[in-house]
Parts: sequence; structure tokens; C-alpha cells
Amino acid sequence: MRLRKVKNALDKLKDNPQYFIDSPLAYKGKWSSLFQNQNPIHIEIGCGKGSFIKELANRNPSINYLAIEKYDSVLLRALEKVETEQLDNLRLILLDATLLEECFEVGEISRIYINFSDPWPKYAHRKRRLTYASFLESYKRILTEAGEIFQKTDNRKLFEFSLESFSQNGWVLSNISLDLHKDDDEENIMTEFEEKWSKLGPIYRLEARKSR
Ligand code: SAH
Repeated sequence: MRLRKVKNALDKLKDNPQYFIDSPLAYKGKWSSLFQNQNPIHIEIGCGKGSFIKELANRNPSINYLAIEKYDSVLLRALEKVETEQLDNLRLILLDATLLEECFEVGEISRIYINFSDPWPKYAHRKRRLTYASFLESYKRILTEAGEIFQKTDNRKLFEFSLESFSQNGWVLSNISLDLHKDDDEENIMTEFEEKWSKLGPIYRLEARKSR
């Protein structure tokens, strides 16, 4: 998500240590101690403006959530959504997904959400897609044995690529939907992109697990 660059976005994030984790790599293997409990940790990669993970954190107080985003101006929007609330089970991290293994220990994460990630339609850019094999390898390492990935997208080509990539790399797929909103999933929490793009076409969804 490209927003107009916000001046001093990083400084503004750093002004809110209750939510913003300034040096996330220092917490590798220690995220539970940050939350001061042993609850499962779920992450969202590319959280954008954050309404999805904020709602999850509200609904599920016994899960710890980490919202991960690459751009400070975007993460600042997410911070502005939550800063007036007291969500002890949510933190925000500024990180590129290529660095996940430097931030999380083997088996530290129970679930990964990937919502409306950039499709990178050009073949030459395929390695940047968040479901490219090299990303799946990192996800496999940071996830627990029963770990899982929930993905949503409006982009059919990215969805087809992801289905192939997960299956070629040994993941077990389930709960695949080719039209999530038609399937009427009452539990579904809409993301900002979903609000916008679901008016124009179907939303695709999948779950992928390391093992059965
Ligand atoms: N999940 C949100 C935003 C989707 S847009 C929603 O559904 O509304 C994709 C988001 O992923 C953007 O905010 C973009 O900045 C972020 N992003 C893209 N590449 C990333 C990467 N390598 N690591 C972390 N975040 C990334």
C-alpha cells in the first residue's frame, strides 16, 4: 500500500512504545515474555491500515497478535486506529517479510495471515510474491508444528500461483473458497482492501498447513 509519505512517521511510531516495537529483532525467541503470557502468537504480514488485526485482537484476548508492515507511513495509520484503545494482546512491527527469520525463532508463531498482498504480476518479480517458495520456507521454520497460514486475495492469478506454490512445497491446503463472500462466512473480518475490492469481484481464500 502506497500512501503519501507522512513526515516523521517513524518518530510518531516511536512515540507510542505501548504498541510500536522499535527493535523487533531483539525479541527473537522472546515474544512470549513481551506479552507476559504463553498464549499463541499470530502475525499478519502486510497489515496495511490495520483494521483486520485490530478486530481480531478485540475478539480474541487469549491470542497475541503482531501486525507487520513494511512502510512506516502505512503502519502509522494502523497505530492511529488502535492508540486510543487498550489492547494488551497487540503490537505493531515495522519489518520487511524477507527478515521474518531474524525476528522469530523456529516454531514461535502459530498462525500467519496474508491478506491482499501485492500480486507482483510480472514474471520477473515473482520472487517478491509473499507466497513464493523462499517465503514459504521461512514461514515453515517460524511456524509451530500445527502452524497454519490463512490467505485472502482478490487477485485470481496470485491465488492460482499461491495454490501451486503451497502444494509444490509440501503444504496441505484446506477450506479453499473461490468466492468467500458468497460462501457467507459469518466469522469473516473484512480488511480495508477487501471492503474495496469485494464490490468488484470474488474474494479468494485458502488455509495451508505444514502437516495434517
Ligand atoms: N492487508 C491489508 C493491506 C493489503 S496491501 C488489507 O488487506 O487491507 C499489502 C500490504 O503489504 C501493504 O500495506 C504493503 O506495504 C505491505 N507489504 C508489501 N510487501 C511487504 C513485505 N515484504 N513485508 C511487509 N509488508 C509488506
